[in-house]
Amino acid sequence: MTQWITVLGSTGSIGCSTLDVVRRHPDKYRVFALTGATRVEEMASQVAEFSPAYAVMAEESAADALKQRLTEASQTQVLSGTDALVQVASAEKVTQVMAAIVGAAGLLPTLAAAQSGKRVLLANKESLVMAGPLFMQAVKEGGAELLPIDSEHNAIFQSMPHDYRGDLAEKGIRKILLTASGGPFRGWQADDLNVVSPAQAVAHPNWSMGAKISVDSATLMNKGLELIEACFLFNCQADDVDVVVHPESVIHSMVQYCDGSVLAQLGQPDMRTPIAYGMAWPERIEAGVESLDLFDIARLNFEKPDEETFPCLRLARDAFAVGGSMPAVLNAANEVAVAAFLGEQIGFTAIPTLIKQVMDQHTVVQADSLESILSADAWARELANDLVQETRS
Ligand code: NAD
Ligand code: MG
Repeated sequence: MTQWITVLGSTGSIGCSTLDVVRRHPDKYRVFALTGATRVEEMASQVAEFSPAYAVMAEESAADALKQRLTEASQTQVLSGTDALVQVASAEKVTQVMAAIVGAAGLLPTLAAAQSGKRVLLANKESLVMAGPLFMQAVKEGGAELLPIDSEHNAIFQSMPHDYRGDLAEKGIRKILLTASGGPFRGWQADDLNVVSPAQAVAHPNWSMGAKISVDSATLMNKGLELIEACFLFNCQADDVDVVVHPESVIHSMVQYCDGSVLAQLGQPDMRTPIAYGMAWPERIEAGVESLDLFDIARLNFEKPDEETFPCLRLARDAFAVGGSMPAVLNAANEVAVAAFLGEQIGFTAIPTLIKQVMDQHTVVQADSLESILSADAWARELANDLVQETRS
C-alpha cells in the first residue's frame, strides 16, 4: 500500500533527509504535503520534484512568493499559517507525518497528527518537552503510532523489547544509556566559552544539522531536551536514564538489561537511518547510508558529561523534576536565548544564565491543557526577551 506522507519542515535538515529517503522508494511513498517557513526557492524545487497536493509556508508573503515561482501547470495548492499546517498534518489521506519543524512552532501540527491517528515520525523534540503528558495522551486517544526519529531515541526504540509497553522493570530493563557527542566544545573550560562565536557553535564535529539544534548540542541543552524526551517516550524517570558522552557518535544509544546485557544500535551519523527506520517500521528499507567500517573507526570512547561547564543539562533535569509548565518554560527561554546568541546579542555562556533566570521567576502551573502550556510558553518568551535587552544595555 502506498504511504502518503506530510513532511512538516521539509526545507530543513531533517526534511531534506526525509525527502531523500522518499526519493529512493517512489513505489512505497508519495508526498501529500510539504511545509516550510521562508525558504521559497528550496520549496519551489521540492514542489516541482514531488508534486504534493499542498505546500504550506509560515507566512502569507512567502506563500505568495512561492505561487509566483510555480508553473501554471502545477497542481499544488499553496497555503500559509498554522491552521493550514494542522490541516495537512491531519488530512484523511495522510498515513505518515514527519514532524520536523524546529521549536515550539511544531507543537500544534504535530499534536494534530497524533490526535488524528497518523504514524508520527517525531523529530520535533521541543513539542514533546513542552507538552509531554498531553502529547502522549493524544497519541493514545488518537490511536497514533509514535516512532522516534531523534537518533538516540530511535536507537533506544530499536534496542527495546518489541512488546515494550512502558514499564522498564517489568521488561528487565535496568537503565537507558543516552549517548551524547559532547558537541564542539567538549573538554573546554568555562572561561574559554565566553568568547565563542555562533559559527564555532554550529560547527558540530559529527552531525550536519539546523542552526538551533547545533547550538543546543554545543550547550548540552540538546541532551537535556533529549533526557526529557526519553522520559516521556519510554515512560520513565530521569534516574532511569544515564547520559554517556561518546565523542565518535557511532553508538546512538543503549539499553541495559537486568541480566547484564547491553543492547546498542550503531551506525553512521546520518539521519536517513532513523528516518527510514521510522518510515518503514517494522520493515527495513534502503536509506542511502553506507555501513560502518569498524576497522576504520578502530576505537570508541566514553566519558561523563561536564555539567559544571555546561549547566544546561542540569537545568533540563531540574525542569523535568519540577514538572508541570516548567519544561515548556525551559524550552521557550532556550529558544529565545539561542536566537539571541545566533543574532550576536548575547554571549554563549549567557544562554544557561538567562534560562535559569526565567525558570527561577516562574510560578509553576499544571500543564494539563494546551492553553496553560501556550501561556507559560508566551510568558517565558516575553521575560527572556526582556532579559536579552537588559544583557545588551
Ligand atoms: P532546520 O532549521 O534545518 O529546519 C527547520 C524546518 O522548520 C524548516 O523547514 C523551516 O522552514 C521550518 N520552520 C522553522 N520555523 C518555522 C515556523 N515558525 N513555522 C513553520 N515552519 C518553521 O532544523 P532541523 O535540524 O531539520 O531540525 C528540525 C527538528 O528536528 C528540530 O526539532 C530538531 O531538534 C530535530 N532534530 C534534528 C536533527 C538533525 O540532525 N538535524 C536530529 C534530531 C532531531
Ligand atoms: Mg539526537
